[in-house]
Amino acid sequence: MTTLYDPLDVAEYTLAELSAIVEVAETWNTYVAIHVNTDAAIQTALDAGVKSIEHGFFITEETAKRMAAEGAWWSMQPFMLDEDAPTFESDFATAKFESCVVGLNSVVAYTKKNGVKTAFGTDSLFSPETSEKQGKLLAKMQKWYTPCEALKMATHDNAQLLKLCGPRDPYVGDLGVVREGAWADLIVVDGNPLENLDLVADPEESFIVIMKGGELYKNRLVSAP
Ligand SMILES: [Zn+2]
Repeated sequence: MTTLYDPLDVAEYTLAELSAIVEVAETWNTYVAIHVNTDAAIQTALDAGVKSIEHGFFITEETAKRMAAEGAWWSMQPFMLDEDAPTFESDFATAKFESCVVGLNSVVAYTKKNGVKTAFGTDSLFSPETSEKQGKLLAKMQKWYTPCEALKMATHDNAQLLKLCGPRDPYVGDLGVVREGAWADLIVVDGNPLENLDLVADPEESFIVIMKGGELYKNRLVSAP
């Protein structure tokens, strides 16, 4: 998206290349997700059998209809031109980022209208600093979604997408549901995030219990003996 040398109009991979990637993933009984923006490249990825379109800032309504019909996922990242926008060393990269981000409103409209399965992503990899902003990014989803829609997307719906990796699924129990035997990633929030999603932007203050994989990492519910 913001690399220095490949313009936003190019589709890059050919159908043969993408098909080969999908074929190899299928030998591992898993699926392919692709970080892609150009609409033609998204169409080629769908032709090849890619299951998840990450970013997709230039998805057209026609492509959204196709994704819905074929059950492909859109993994969206709530990037905006705000205080959390990444900074780049070159004007070229900055301009590319800006021209991607302005398309997001339209893509949300097309995907909502046509019922495209949508996942919440952050694109935060390998960076503890940006990972700390995940809650803040989730709260930003209020621009387009109700708190319930955003929370369901980040938990239950994302889990449905991850399930596509079949036997490569590293989780022992079901994800994104609260029931006996499910994978216990649980958060207790001081307040009602269905009414105020801004609570998830401040985990330090709002999250009074954090359980990951059945283990407690934070518990302010326990009173002193
Ligand atoms: Zn990406």
